Amino acid sequence: TFVPAARVDRIRESPSVAAAQRVRELKAQGREILDLTVGEPDFDTPDNIKSAAITAINTGQTKYTAVNGIPALREAIATRAASRTGIQYADNQITVGGGAKQVIFLALMATVEAGVEVIVPAPYWVSYPDMVLAHDGTPVIVQCEESDNFLLTPHALADAITPNTKWVILNAPGNPTGSVYTREQLQAIAEVIEANPHVSVLVDEIYDEINFGDAPITSLLEVAPHLRDQVLVTNGVSKSHAMTGWRLGYGLGNSGLIGAINKLQGQSSSCPSSISQAAAVEALTGDQSFLTESVRSYRLRRDLSTRLLGAVPGLEPVVPQGAFYLFVNCAALIGKQTPGGTVIESDQDLVLYLLDEASVATIQGSAYGASPYFRISFAASEAVLEKAAAQIAAAVERLS
Ligand code: PLP
Repeated sequence: TFVPAARVDRIRESPSVAAAQRVRELKAQGREILDLTVGEPDFDTPDNIKSAAITAINTGQTKYTAVNGIPALREAIATRAASRTGIQYADNQITVGGGAKQVIFLALMATVEAGVEVIVPAPYWVSYPDMVLAHDGTPVIVQCEESDNFLLTPHALADAITPNTKWVILNAPGNPTGSVYTREQLQAIAEVIEANPHVSVLVDEIYDEINFGDAPITSLLEVAPHLRDQVLVTNGVSKSHAMTGWRLGYGLGNSGLIGAINKLQGQSSSCPSSISQAAAVEALTGDQSFLTESVRSYRLRRDLSTRLLGAVPGLEPVVPQGAFYLFVNCAALIGKQTPGGTVIESDQDLVLYLLDEASVATIQGSAYGASPYFRISFAASEAVLEKAAAQIAAAVERLS
């Protein structure tokens, strides 16, 4: 019989992967489900990027690469980082991996062990706490308030830091809230980090291109470049360039950490796909008009879904400033009864009710460490978003 290592029992299956599986099962039974759980662009990868990959295949770029990727990709990453923050990263301060997810996983593997604490502000991307647990560490969840736009305050950060703290994870625009820190808020966080040189910051900027403000989002290192050795920035092409299936992400940090990540990658995957690397070079250096067009479209869908769900009595969407998720407060529906007589006791109950009665798949806030809320992805067509909102409205109306 199979006996898993303790770390497997310690972690949960990704709730978004589980939700997607449930949708597949219902669809297989012939149910028509509007799936708003998926965390990926509904656009196709742009043609120029596909062509770059096809050229890579046809010109023999199909072998192992260096563990830290092909030089052209590291150069493209360094150029982008320099234009965002003014910081120049050397070759040994850049790593590339099979998605930002793998880079984050290896960064934690390289630094976390029993006794190590990692501060995870909630609501959080589902994977952070489990990745910490997978490496025997302790996730320290800090609850952030809706009234603070779900952002980590410097006071809450300072209170959560202990001598055992190794990391705090900052994700903006955030999944699931789309919240973004202002320059002043980052400045205040930077001061706490500066006063705690034993703490590093993992800055997950995977959604930085999907931003609905007029100016680019501010990066922690823009306001505090002197903290660069205490900061690991992770990013990738999955969300920005509709390349989730290509599995290509990267990290920028101090050479000691990057060297450790590369050592672990060298003994696990060796390197990310050579073809995806060639595609990512085109994504980062080629025509960027896809970004403008896709963000314009996400903004329209954000406005549409915020308006439609905001009009449903009992639902209060939190207007996101970036990414493609809408986090919806459903506190007013807790305690209500379904037509079948079941009491909605939690956001999980509501999500199941919406799946059964509205045929709309969403994800409960508890998966992100914040209740009672649910998350929809608005990376879906306007027709689907309109239909989903109408079906949710009708199902909510049947609650008493
Ligand atoms: N970070 C956040 C906040 C995410 O939502 C995701 C994807 O869902 C990732 C990282 C991972 O992205 P990648 O496809 O580059 O692994």
